[in-house]
Amino acid sequence: MNRKWNKLLCTTLVSVLLLENIQVYANVVKMRLLYDEKMHNYEAENITITINGTVLPPEDMPPIVLYDRTLVPARAVFEALGAEVAWNELSQEVYVRKQDDIIVLKADQNTATKNGTAFTMDVPAKVVNERTMIPVRAVSEALGCTVAWDENTRVVAIDEIIEPQKPDEIMDNKQNDNENSDSENDDNTDNENNDNENDDNEHDDNKITEVDKKEYASGGTGNIPKKNIGVTHIDIPQNKNDKQIFSITASDEIAKFQEIESDNDEIVIDIYYAQKEILTDDIEVETSDIVNDIVSLQYDEHDITITRIIFKLKAQYQYDIELNDDENGIVVYFGKKENDNTNNNTNTNNNTNNNNTNTSNNNTNTNITTNTNQTNNLKNVYYESARKAIALSKMELFAADNVISIDDYINKKYQMILPGDYSNIYGSGTMALHTDELVSVTVSQEEGKTAFTFEQNGINAFTVTEDANYYYINVKNPKEVYDKIVVIDAGHGGSDPGTSGNGLKEKDMTIAIVQKLYQKLQNTTKVKTYVTRIGDTYPANIERATMANDIGDVFISVHMNSANPNPTPNGTEVLFITHETDVTGKLTSKDVATILLKNVVNALGTNNRGLKYDTSEQKNLIVLNKTVVPAVIVETLFLSNPGDALKISNELYQEKAAQAIYDSIIEIADNYNWR
Ligand SMILES: [Zn+2]
Repeated sequence: MNRKWNKLLCTTLVSVLLLENIQVYANVVKMRLLYDEKMHNYEAENITITINGTVLPPEDMPPIVLYDRTLVPARAVFEALGAEVAWNELSQEVYVRKQDDIIVLKADQNTATKNGTAFTMDVPAKVVNERTMIPVRAVSEALGCTVAWDENTRVVAIDEIIEPQKPDEIMDNKQNDNENSDSENDDNTDNENNDNENDDNEHDDNKITEVDKKEYASGGTGNIPKKNIGVTHIDIPQNKNDKQIFSITASDEIAKFQEIESDNDEIVIDIYYAQKEILTDDIEVETSDIVNDIVSLQYDEHDITITRIIFKLKAQYQYDIELNDDENGIVVYFGKKENDNTNNNTNTNNNTNNNNTNTSNNNTNTNITTNTNQTNNLKNVYYESARKAIALSKMELFAADNVISIDDYINKKYQMILPGDYSNIYGSGTMALHTDELVSVTVSQEEGKTAFTFEQNGINAFTVTEDANYYYINVKNPKEVYDKIVVIDAGHGGSDPGTSGNGLKEKDMTIAIVQKLYQKLQNTTKVKTYVTRIGDTYPANIERATMANDIGDVFISVHMNSANPNPTPNGTEVLFITHETDVTGKLTSKDVATILLKNVVNALGTNNRGLKYDTSEQKNLIVLNKTVVPAVIVETLFLSNPGDALKISNELYQEKAAQAIYDSIIEIADNYNWR
């Protein structure tokens, strides 16, 4: 198993003297046991353990019966079940991890936890003769195994329940073969059914092109390779007019790969047993009208190293994915665009009289432009390009203060709600704008109020001002409106799970903390907050950095660390690089990092691993090297460490982490100049 785990266990060295006392006569174990700080004489018939039908060879410390329950040496038994076992001397906790499940038992306590949820056992784990002994039934069952006890033979039989493989799990050639034999069986059905089946097949044919993509994608030998291969590079078309063929190249035969379904305009391909050796995380493709960029990343799942390649598309196109002839590469071919005639829909409502708009406008305004693309009945609403503002003729008075704004920047929308129903003055409908900032504005009425809903290209802030003749809804960069802006980033997301460990995925933990943090930040006026994502989506790292530069003053990115497969490293560290723009008297990345580290370590009680900065490791991180505003990455704790993972899987600790980051932001807001 794992050497480092074993090393941990070595702290509970068995006392040789104690073990010399074991005597087994006629299957009777007779020995002296040290527990509860006392010596006890133990005499009982020998117990045999079988795991999936195989007898576990006897160990220096045998299974024992205490308080009518069988306790077994944790490591010997559960490692044989494919679990990892670790002992923390300090906290007197034993960790048993099997795949995604982690059980934590504390010596002499009847309550244990499975993946953070408590359960009760009849007997506690015990340190006996300096060996960690745990109740066999409770722990085995918690790990999804069955346990049977035969009183006559004194055999404890532990059996794993083998779950049938899900059909959409890793596909390989074997499964393809099965599918072929399935269709052979279909041929044997009687005639009546055959008619139906043929019908089905016809429909299926259409689907097959879609399904095929995935089955083609499951190429390769299907064998588990001895060594991980490297995914070395991706070739892209030379220019836009070339055939749109993208080739992913690996150092050796690809054993397995799979296309992952994604909701977004992207193609996600996982290559198994493969190390990512592509140098850039995000390849920008300037020679394609189809692919915007190609993101590559590496993650581990059930100890399999997977390289994930994500093609981010400009629109949905038909495509095929194939393994190349040498099986050491994957080729993605693009065909024609799907849904090519969507554009026509938007123009159908064009029966409007645009001539209305200028007549009521008595001003000799030079800037005001009425938009000819108006597909609506808007009146007295103009876009004034010099001001970057929507001008509303002042025909009914309202207080600009009474305008409510709803900033839905995540969905690229911003809404200004005027206090009355002004449909008779402004009408309703959508005006296309085509400016750098705005796509369109839609005027609508609801519940006696008038809403101006902006479709935005990026993120803007809006203000309302007025002069004698007009109200203006001004389009501003947020920095023109807010003094202090923090951009919060939940690391990874969507098709990029980040690291994983102990059943937890980084992207889930980071968003859990950021959602809580964002909630808290809504209640302060000291800072304006934007988040790079609030759900399970994946903005490219360059987009996150650009967002911070464009509209933010400080960038805080929340991540989880990992030292897979080494479970020992644990604790918190904060990363940054010194920016050229760092000057004294103004907030720097180091200031932000120092405060965050202090508060997160205090709140979570984690090991302080310090600030990590200005080495090549940090300098290669896009969110640090492409930002010009102070920017930090909080590596909250290690998912690969059972104790750390246990903490952060608990909502209480997620809440503590969110509070610590919130407190840090307020501390920074109170004590530093942000610009
Ligand atoms: Zn990360």
